[in-house]
Amino acid sequence: MINFNIPPYTGKEIEYIQQAVANRKICGDGEFTKKCNKWLEDRFCATKVLLTTSGTTALDMAMLLCDIKPGDEVILPSYTFSSTATSAVLAGAKLVFVDVRPDTMNIDESKIEQAITDRTRVIVAVHYAGVACEMDTIMGIARQHGIMVIEDAAQAVMSTYKGVALGTIGDFGCYSFHETKNYSMGEGGAICINRPEYIEKAEILREKGTNRSKFFRGQVDKYTWVDFGDSYLPSELNAAYLYAQLEVADKINSDRMRTWNTYWNAFKKLEDSGKIKLPTVPEGCVHNAHMFYFKCNSLQERTSLISYMKENGIMLVFHYVPLHSAPAGIKFGRFSGDDEYTTSESEKLVRLPMYYGITDEDKQKVIRKVMEFYGE
Ligand SMILES: *Cc1c(COP(=O)(O)O)cnc(C)c1O
Repeated sequence: MINFNIPPYTGKEIEYIQQAVANRKICGDGEFTKKCNKWLEDRFCATKVLLTTSGTTALDMAMLLCDIKPGDEVILPSYTFSSTATSAVLAGAKLVFVDVRPDTMNIDESKIEQAITDRTRVIVAVHYAGVACEMDTIMGIARQHGIMVIEDAAQAVMSTYKGVALGTIGDFGCYSFHETKNYSMGEGGAICINRPEYIEKAEILREKGTNRSKFFRGQVDKYTWVDFGDSYLPSELNAAYLYAQLEVADKINSDRMRTWNTYWNAFKKLEDSGKIKLPTVPEGCVHNAHMFYFKCNSLQERTSLISYMKENGIMLVFHYVPLHSAPAGIKFGRFSGDDEYTTSESEKLVRLPMYYGITDEDKQKVIRKVMEFYGE
């Protein structure tokens, strides 16, 4: 059986978890959390990074920091995970869905401006498959209209746009370290706070509304409840697991890139003969091989491919029923303009097994069986 995903494990995770236990500090913001925050800040030249309990809660924090008022609107793609939308709903916003570009499945930057109203407060750029949205255009539109930008970089840890780390371009960036992502802590995430004036507010929000972070830095004598807050600190046990992986992040990244390139080169032939469509990585974008997908010619073809592969012991998956057509999407949002690509393209997309350490033998079997299905 070839799984679709196996959570990453690189060797030092257990040792670091044991260390956390030996430190007698297993709650949040201990040694390993600090090491992870610093690693992410240094590597991505980020102003401030804080680990959170998930990618979803990183998005929740970002939305809450945007100070959304009832009736305010958030622009986002409909082709994304529910977390992107639910964080906006939690903050009290109405959702305005914008179509995606068929080449990257990212929000179509040319369709954002027409979705803006005088209630628009935030644009969410979801970097699908770790490939960057057209950030220069998006930031330009946002600045011109006085709108905040949140990057949903859940899939984009270690990806760049014109040399700049994804997650550090918008006002806030959100990473996920769920077990299905490139670097993992089981459940966890991080928020990049790219504007210094929001750091203190973010720390308070993350620490149950208290100024405890200031207290630990010796900036106040006593800590107290100062504002609205929640608890977004992951346990040190999770952070220890993650830190082991961040230390070998380049190794994980190059292993995944090798797999991605092997698939891409093997399937180029199918694309050249018009049988499938391969993903595009626009110029200036360096991706992180978060996923390998391609598009079949139709929904029926995708369904038969998935069952053919399953019969051969290979798990393929598809995802994202467009949010605007889901029950909660209908309740909380509307689609701006025409759904030219979101629904039709999402129905053709299929994802292949992709994880750290997948063997050459397994990759070759996946390739062989896909080729067989297409009569090659
Ligand atoms: C995984 C993911 C999330 C949510 O991250 P969790 O850590 O699972 O909460 C949000 N947005 C996108 C695009 C994702 O892929």
